[in-house]
Amino acid sequence: MSHTCTSLLMHCMDFRFGKKMKEFMEQNNLMGDADLVSIAGAAKNIVNPETQALALRQLEISKDLHGMKVVHLMNHTDCGAYGGKKAFTDEKAEYEKLTGDLKEAAQIVKAKWPELEVKLWLAHINESGHEAEISFEPIA
Ligand SMILES: [Zn+2]
Repeated sequence: MSHTCTSLLMHCMDFRFGKKMKEFMEQNNLMGDADLVSIAGAAKNIVNPETQALALRQLEISKDLHGMKVVHLMNHTDCGAYGGKKAFTDEKAEYEKLTGDLKEAAQIVKAKWPELEVKLWLAHINESGHEAEISFEPIA
């Protein structure tokens, strides 16, 4: 049995993802082939100097120990670590902050490990009924 995996997925700890995160992983062939980092605010931890070392250390361990080659960074709307959607004046401002942090985090990762591929995702959480509706948008 090989002790390697292709990817690492860093996403928010938010419980609302539930089964949707499993579906996302299955759709992107990550199930059983990705190290998982579940941390409040996800990419925010790479951008924030106070938490950057811990966040990057997870990538380093995954890379050195498991030969990981692809990093998936996922932020999401209405994220408590960003103060929720109420912290923003409108949806556009929230979108720009969340995707801006993703892109900045990708640059930080690429500067440190140019050989890694970085894929960015924004999960949209809409709570209209009892269950949250979640969709995943790839960010270029
Ligand atoms: Zn969150």
